[in-house]
Amino acid sequence: MQRLQAFKYELMPNGEQQSNMRRFAGACRFVFNKALALQKANHEAGEKYIGYVAMAKHLTAWRNGSETPWLKDAPVHPLQHALKDLERAYKNFFAKRAAFPRFKKKGRHDSFRYPDAKQFKLDAGNGRIFLPKLGWMRLRLSRDVLGTPRNATVSQSGGKWFVSIQTEREVEQPEPQATSAIGIDMGVARFATFSDGSFLAPLASFKKHEIRLRRYQRAMSRKTKFSSNWTKAKARVQHLHTRIANCRKDYLHKATTTISQNHAIVCIEDLQVRNMSKSAAGTADAPGKNVRAKSGLNKAILDQGWFEFRRQLEYKLAWTGGILIAVAPQNTSRTCSSCGHVSKDNRKTQAQFLCVACGHEENADVVGAINVLARGHRVLACGEDVSHARPARAKHAASVKQEPAEVSQAQA
Ligand SMILES: [Zn+2]
Repeated sequence: MQRLQAFKYELMPNGEQQSNMRRFAGACRFVFNKALALQKANHEAGEKYIGYVAMAKHLTAWRNGSETPWLKDAPVHPLQHALKDLERAYKNFFAKRAAFPRFKKKGRHDSFRYPDAKQFKLDAGNGRIFLPKLGWMRLRLSRDVLGTPRNATVSQSGGKWFVSIQTEREVEQPEPQATSAIGIDMGVARFATFSDGSFLAPLASFKKHEIRLRRYQRAMSRKTKFSSNWTKAKARVQHLHTRIANCRKDYLHKATTTISQNHAIVCIEDLQVRNMSKSAAGTADAPGKNVRAKSGLNKAILDQGWFEFRRQLEYKLAWTGGILIAVAPQNTSRTCSSCGHVSKDNRKTQAQFLCVACGHEENADVVGAINVLARGHRVLACGEDVSHARPARAKHAASVKQEPAEVSQAQA
């Protein structure tokens, strides 16, 4: 089995390298935006979509032309890769997987990629990496790079620069060590409740930081824009954003690692978080009811990173030889796990479950998790598609292509 894995390290650039990296990221953003504008104008003129090869010819003209000669200072491969990024965005849009591509803004996900291993040299022994037009740069090698490097992405976050090296290596298809199966109920009061009665506390780090974040943002808004105090306040806001993201990542990784090591079969609800966000906002004709309340819930859901949780479980289980089964979420919180009676009256409160038919009493989230597990077992036993359960996805993840972003990020 091929495993693709990304290894992320902090870079330690000198002043000149820093300003060059900023310029290169800017050049890639410029090329992406210019190509998108061209694509749009072309479409409005009734012309066909411009494919990558034709667009790359435009890029050559921009680099050699007199209007943007500075594009020549940036390495060519990352610029070409920006066009590939745009092409992928369009493909996702055409396939209805994503919204229409948007223009990139400065300061948001500033990055550029060297798409081929030939373009960079990693000297792990000396803790440095060679990048075209940047030269040798030191990096904090917090862990070994495993496998053959495929590409390298340089990015900025919270005032620091990182390089993420994606590698490929052959690993044996693992035999699952664990043999047990578990169901998980995702919630807001508890991040995750398991069918064995245990649970994970909510991810509160963001709430805690959110108050401070708002205070920092207010302080920033009171300062004169672009003054030195404003710049300092802005750096503080960005730093806190990075910390929040790191806390969340760390929490989710610990949780998903533990689960995937202890269980061979993991069943979760197939929650459509993205759809929920959409329905809360409503449409122009029918603005969503309770937008405020719902967006509060959605925010909590997204904060807790349910999607990220599921994504991590999927690839980590593939690594340990386990399987992830997503089952239909309908009525999992209203069905009695003892007698099977379905009624909304079974759910007395958010936390309490009391079956009106048989009197079975249990924590409501535990009941949900037991039902999820039971559904997962049914999916496995009959191999049938009980609703939109998707065991096939997990199987797919186990075979070849996956994009685990298992990263190790040196933190300050
Ligand atoms: Zn019952």
